[in-house]
Amino acid sequence: MTLLDLIEENSVSPPVNVEAIIRGLGIELNKKAELDAGIAGEIARLDSGKYRISANKDDHYFRQRFTLAHELAHFVFHRDLIGDGVDDDKLYRSTEGGNFYNTKIKKQHETEANRFAAVILMPKDLVIAAFERQPDVKALAKDFQVSPAAMEIRLRGLGSIN
Ligand SMILES: [Zn+2]
Repeated sequence: MTLLDLIEENSVSPPVNVEAIIRGLGIELNKKAELDAGIAGEIARLDSGKYRISANKDDHYFRQRFTLAHELAHFVFHRDLIGDGVDDDKLYRSTEGGNFYNTKIKKQHETEANRFAAVILMPKDLVIAAFERQPDVKALAKDFQVSPAAMEIRLRGLGSIN
């Protein structure tokens, strides 16, 4: 299935099933990755040519979901820059700290990946409809299984809150 089909199929109602989107693309997923404390996640190219997306096992699941969506963006948009892999630190910057140090992934790519993660996990129409029913950042964060901080940024971006 294509990325767009997978997104549509898995974002009918919150929470968006980002894991199904990733797996549907044939990407391996590891939510129990033993990564350095400063690393949120990584995407690695395996010897088989497939890719694996990992999230730090010690992170809260809601944060892991954002990490997984962020790494998915690197796969979708930046595959030609990934090489053997990319590690993201807690601020989602490619870092020396992990298994890879990818200097091709720049700030603009990270910004793009964060935006993709927000769009995937918090689809505009779903968030606006949910906010009209229940204008409560924390409750919406729970429904969409994202951090309150991520939800707040999204609502601000959509003009729902100031
Ligand atoms: Zn990144």
